[in-house]
Order: sequence, then C-alpha cells, then structure tokens
Amino acid sequence: MTPPISRPFCLALALAAVGMVGCSVSIGGDRASTAPGTASTATTHKWWAAGDEGESAVPTRKWITHIVVPRETRETIAARYGVTVTELVRANKKKLGKKKWLYANQKLRIHARKFPPPREKIRYVVKRGDTWSKIAAKFHVSPRDLKGWNPKVPRAFKAGTKLKVYTDPVAPAVVGGGGGAGTAVGPLPEFHVRGGGVGVGKPNRGHLVNGVKLPKSDMVKILDGDKVWGTSHTIELLQTSIAAFRRDSGYAKPLTVSSISRRKGGKFSPHSSHQTGRDVDIRLPRKSGGAKSQSPSTIDWTMTWQLVKALADTGEVEYIFISWSRQKYLYRAAQSAGATKSQLTKLIQYPRKSKSNKGLVRHSSGHTVHLHVRFTCTPGNTRCKSY
Ligand SMILES: [Zn+2]
Repeated sequence: MTPPISRPFCLALALAAVGMVGCSVSIGGDRASTAPGTASTATTHKWWAAGDEGESAVPTRKWITHIVVPRETRETIAARYGVTVTELVRANKKKLGKKKWLYANQKLRIHARKFPPPREKIRYVVKRGDTWSKIAAKFHVSPRDLKGWNPKVPRAFKAGTKLKVYTDPVAPAVVGGGGGAGTAVGPLPEFHVRGGGVGVGKPNRGHLVNGVKLPKSDMVKILDGDKVWGTSHTIELLQTSIAAFRRDSGYAKPLTVSSISRRKGGKFSPHSSHQTGRDVDIRLPRKSGGAKSQSPSTIDWTMTWQLVKALADTGEVEYIFISWSRQKYLYRAAQSAGATKSQLTKLIQYPRKSKSNKGLVRHSSGHTVHLHVRFTCTPGNTRCKSY
C-alpha cells in the first residue's frame, strides 16, 4: 500500500508559506491554537469513497487561512482546497452566512483537504503582440478575471502597460496529471467489478451481454435500478472516476446517475443510444441552496469541470455530451481553475462551433443539466462498435 503523502507534504508547504511574501494563504498558525475545535488533530476520514475497502491511506485535513483574491468565488475557493461550498460557508458563518459577496483580502478559515501553493500577485509588463487572452493563457487564468483585475486598462492596450495578475506559482499538471499543482491526495480505492459484461454493436444499435448493475453506494444516487446496467469496463471506470472526482474536489454528495442501459441493453426510450452499456447520464453538480431550475446559474461549473477532468483522466472516454449553449460556463470555470490551453483545447469543443468535431466535450442538444459520458469499448472486445 502506498503510504500517505499528505503529512510531510503539507508540513513542507506550511514552512514554505510562513516565509512567503504576498501570500494568499497561511497554513496552521495561531488561529488553530486559539479557536476551539480547530486543534491540529489529523482527522482521518474515508471521505472520498464508499464501500468497505479496509484501512486505506487517507489525506490529512488541516485548518488554513485563505485570503480572498479578487474575483474568487465560493465555488473556486472550495474547489481549490478540496472542500465543499457548504463546508466553506459553515466554517465562515459570520462572513458568508447570509451575505452573497466575497471581498478581496477577506480571511476565510478552511478545513482543507488540498494544499495548493499560495497564489502570487505579480505585475506583468505588456509586450508587443500580447493580447488579453494570450496573457491569460500564459498565467493559466481566465481572460475575464484578468480584465476584472485591471478595470482601468483599456481593451486595446499598448506595450509597456502594467497588469496585475494573481497566478499560481506552479503551472497545473497537464491532462492526466490529477488535481494539479500542490495537490496532496491519497490513493484511490479499488473497485472489484465482475468481469464478462460486454457490449455488442453500436451505442444506438446494439445490446448488452452479462450486464453489470451499478452498485449502490454513498457516491451515487440511482433513480431506477432497472436502468443502470453497464459493461464491466463501464461500471469499473465510472466508479473509479467518481471516486477520483470526490477525492480531488472534496465533493461529498452523491452524484445522480439517471441512465446507463437496461439489463440486456437494446432500445431504451427516450434515448437513441444507451443500448450497449457504455453510455452514462450523470446530473451536473448543483450549487448548494440553489433552486432546481434549468438555468445555468444553478449549476456548479467548477465542480462540473472537476468531474469532466476525472472522467477524461481515465483515458477511456470517447465523448462527453453537454449542450453547446452550456459549454461556455464550463470553459470559463476551467479557465478560472487554472486549466492550461492544451487541456481546454483537448477537452472542450467551445469556443469552436457546435458542429466542430474537436474536443472531448461535444454538443448534443438537451444536455443542459446532465452530462452524457460514453466510455470506450472494453479492450479486446471486437464485437463492440463505434460509429
Ligand atoms: Zn444520455
């Protein structure tokens, strides 16, 4: 078993953070010793996975103080430290309880699960040929945030103009690299899925042999047990990627899985695909306390981005369908979370047109509050067909 890496890692970070100037975070410190219930007890939770896998190594949580950077939101701060928005608000009731807005330089207490290096405020001098989006991409920030940090700078700026940038000192990892810079996370549990469940034919014209039912757990909410049968490959990848999503994002609620396939696959109204056990509909994570409408403002796009990344990281996904009209929210959330240009290009169709055949996330109408992920055929199964 891999030993937990979090403890020495955050200790090193805590030491590094103390000496840093212009930090947006300080780790540990006197708050923890004065406030009740915040002692440096290393709580061990199996918070990211369901099931009884025995004693696995778990990340250590630690109280930290975060100093709010302009344009941060509850969602982006929560994702940064691997906590939920509810946990963030609960730990800062007076500041966030009923007020809607965060303020720059506000101090928030966070029971963090991840310990990214503090963001740095830097001054960037514009060079010839620079554009807002080029500079934003260089520092892995969103162009909207960059403009927001520099409200007085005209849209068409000149070389020599000075810009404020709040950037992560280390570039986030590339696709497949897990949670990005400074992430301290434990290993994933293993899911033991019965073999032999395979798909035959095309997703819209095929069936499922020896299908495996998605098991109940606290990671998923299953609406109808007759509709969640998949290939062994799909069920294993689905559980692994949801566990990785929970571990890396701190998302603690179950994700609703509405449809995979029927027990033997085949026609499954109202879907045109979902016939061979490798298509899965998952409801998009919602902002806490929001109304359950179709509005994009009710969706937690930062969490949705984390989910898309976790699915993509399996390397076994053919497509993720999300309506084009919603992809810009995903794209902006990804930019604000420090996604690299190559991650954005590989993973999201937007800002290309809805008919473009580029990007793992593709347009398919009606996917406004859920995503549809299509896993690849089981390796070696020659009877499974793509289009
Ligand atoms: Zn679907």
